Amino acid sequence: MEKVKVRFAPSPTGPLHIGGARSALFNWLFARHHNGIMVVRIEDTDLDRSTREYEELILDSLRWLGIDWDEGVGVGGPNGPYRQQERLSLYRPFTERLLASGQAYECFCTEEELEAERQRLIAQGKTPRYLGRCRDLSPQEKEAMRAQGRKPAIRFRVPEGKLLVVDDLVRGRVEFESDDIGDFIIVKSDGYPTYNYAVVLDDALMGITHILRGEEHLSNTPRQLLIYEALDFKPPQFAHISLILGEDRSKMSKRHGATSVVQYREEGYLPEALVNFLALLGWSPEGEEEIFTREELIQLFSLERVSKSPAVFNLEKLKWMNAHYIKELPVAELTKLCLLHLQKAGLIGTDLTAEQMSWLEQVVDTVMGKLEYLAQIPDLVKVFFGETVELAEEDAAAKEVLALETSSAVLQAFLKKAQEASAWDEPQIRQILKEIGKEIGVKGKALYMTVRVAVSGQSHGPDLNSLLTLLGPKVVIKRINYTLNNLLLD
Ligand code: GLU
Repeated sequence: MEKVKVRFAPSPTGPLHIGGARSALFNWLFARHHNGIMVVRIEDTDLDRSTREYEELILDSLRWLGIDWDEGVGVGGPNGPYRQQERLSLYRPFTERLLASGQAYECFCTEEELEAERQRLIAQGKTPRYLGRCRDLSPQEKEAMRAQGRKPAIRFRVPEGKLLVVDDLVRGRVEFESDDIGDFIIVKSDGYPTYNYAVVLDDALMGITHILRGEEHLSNTPRQLLIYEALDFKPPQFAHISLILGEDRSKMSKRHGATSVVQYREEGYLPEALVNFLALLGWSPEGEEEIFTREELIQLFSLERVSKSPAVFNLEKLKWMNAHYIKELPVAELTKLCLLHLQKAGLIGTDLTAEQMSWLEQVVDTVMGKLEYLAQIPDLVKVFFGETVELAEEDAAAKEVLALETSSAVLQAFLKKAQEASAWDEPQIRQILKEIGKEIGVKGKALYMTVRVAVSGQSHGPDLNSLLTLLGPKVVIKRINYTLNNLLLD
């Protein structure tokens, strides 16, 4: 087998979409599996919508996902430049060739004329397509058009009555009739190539062997095959990956929630989780296992196991996977990743001392089992911050416990012992609670829940002993005083 060479060719007209990320990932897994070459190049011929900022954002999302490339923007290579805007002069000789052989021709139709033709065909119940008005203009007719100030676009002359076959590695044999395809524009009147044209020249000149991309491009493929044929290029193999649907089975869109990689990154999904999740959107290895490292994915990936049916984006599954990868992180690393979220929520400042960091790590440790994504961290740990207590509004159990007859005595006793304590660690706190239980004659909920609610304002949360230890005696004393003075309902 010749050396595999694949590419990811985003248009920089928005951030990297989940579907684009999945295409990039499949290409990357395929390249790495076959020790092939991964190219990343930019399709920026849509001048109105392409920006360098989006290009940077897309590349940054790829890097964050751990998808690297051997050739292309940023890294260079033998087939550059890798932005279409910088490749225009490379395309010209091919356009000249197509014009000279009559496989392409100049079209002088205006937008208005084309639109009128479209409407006419629609009114007749026909599929709108270009009917070839400029196919056979004489040199004089062309001159007359130019004299009117018309600038020509260049159209590809689609052969008539031809069966076009795409042998797709995922979808099998797909047939198209050339008669359903009107002569299509390959170079616009402003001199810029269209997608279907530039993509073929790029793929052919770069020696791309396999094209893995979204199913939405399947209908473009017959046009692209015609160009390969016209220029005597050997076509690559195609593999069109199924669409990604939302849970209501309609095409995934903003309605379904976050659609760009950067949004998931900002919410605190880990790249390992997103890569694992995206890999399983339309591909599955044998067996039931769902958690895979990058190395395992590379080893297992094959086009034979890419599914023809659409993949459904299940956010709950992504959360479950993310929670899994969060639990696998060393707590120090997880804490670092949480800093930004805690700063944004105003819970911590920007320069933490080593001591504060180590305290924060212990705090994060108490809740890491509950985290599905990092943006949840402020809510889960806010109980560790501040000196007062806010009674959780809808927490009936918390209110109930504060109304117990014994609560005041429990809290007074706890306050006294906390003030007298010589040390403040888990064994000491356990001892204090035990003594209070005996002295006042309470146990279970009336003891532990009372203290928990008094220091945190809620009936659930991190392990009580860890909470008290990490809050430290000073804050515990302040909070219990606060509760005794403000919240106790007697
Ligand atoms: N720029 C195209 C896109 O983003 C690439 C299509 C292709 O891979 O051929 O959809």
